[in-house]
Amino acid sequence: MKTQSPIHLEEKAFLFQKILSRMIQYYQKHPLPNLLIFSGPNKILKHYVVLHKIAFYHLCINQNHCKECKACLLLEKQEHPDLIIFPDDKVKIGDVKDPEPFSIRWLQKNILVYKPAVSPIRIVLFPAAEKLGLEAEIALLKTLEEPSPYTKFIFFTPSLDQLKDTIISRGVNIPLKNFSLEQMHKITEINDYEFLEILGGSLDNFYSIKYEFYQTLKQKILQALEHPIDLIELEDWSMQNSKIELENEGLQENQFWELFVHVFLQCISRSVLYTTLAPKFMDFLIGLRAEQPGLLPYLTSRLFYELFYHIYLKTT
Ligand SMILES: [Zn+2]
Repeated sequence: MKTQSPIHLEEKAFLFQKILSRMIQYYQKHPLPNLLIFSGPNKILKHYVVLHKIAFYHLCINQNHCKECKACLLLEKQEHPDLIIFPDDKVKIGDVKDPEPFSIRWLQKNILVYKPAVSPIRIVLFPAAEKLGLEAEIALLKTLEEPSPYTKFIFFTPSLDQLKDTIISRGVNIPLKNFSLEQMHKITEINDYEFLEILGGSLDNFYSIKYEFYQTLKQKILQALEHPIDLIELEDWSMQNSKIELENEGLQENQFWELFVHVFLQCISRSVLYTTLAPKFMDFLIGLRAEQPGLLPYLTSRLFYELFYHIYLKTT
């Protein structure tokens, strides 16, 4: 597998998103709206677009990403004071008197009252707008209703359904789509279509699911389908690896199990086992998504019991 610099990958991915490319091209030549909403999957691509296609142009003092002005140099160092990126997490309204940094009241009292420090405008990014608390969302709405000439907001959301109508109506929506298998192949230059299928058209998954890891997991599942000892070994290996990956900031534990299910189903897709096991895996995923603490060990041991029973006990 060729290694590519991420920027190159994201630039290719950007060109495959036709609506996105066209709208961004337009906004590179025209003033930004007060609120841009990027809806849909592929958060990594959204970040790339905001930084390279929006911030680099609109925050540049010469408005062309000259790479020489003070603003461009600060952007390069990721220290630009007029590019405010909220955490990728739940955003709070903040204390009335002493609002904590990256709360809505902090933004309103400590940032928005001032003019931008370096650039002609300021950009405020909410990478997880769907996680705005109710109070925070209402407080922010007030700000969006009284647009300032020099503050532009950008929201990311997996889907528009997760924002209030009153917010959506204040913004311009730019929809993103999942990539097709063929597009993922062209972007990543990976020829293994079964792996590309697992990625579900998401560049985010491409970054979090390592190809080598996928191959190891698949190999272990195929072995487990051949011999009962290997199924027991797969259970041990999975229990360990679901946690190891967590420590390495790769897949989180739940993401590991989602991947496990999808690869397993892929391995038995042409087998008679599929009809019997698919519902068991779906039950497992429903349990997993309920995210009840302490439930996971029960869910996994039940799943492996079902696997053992249906693959080895019932048929022999
Ligand atoms: Zn510049």
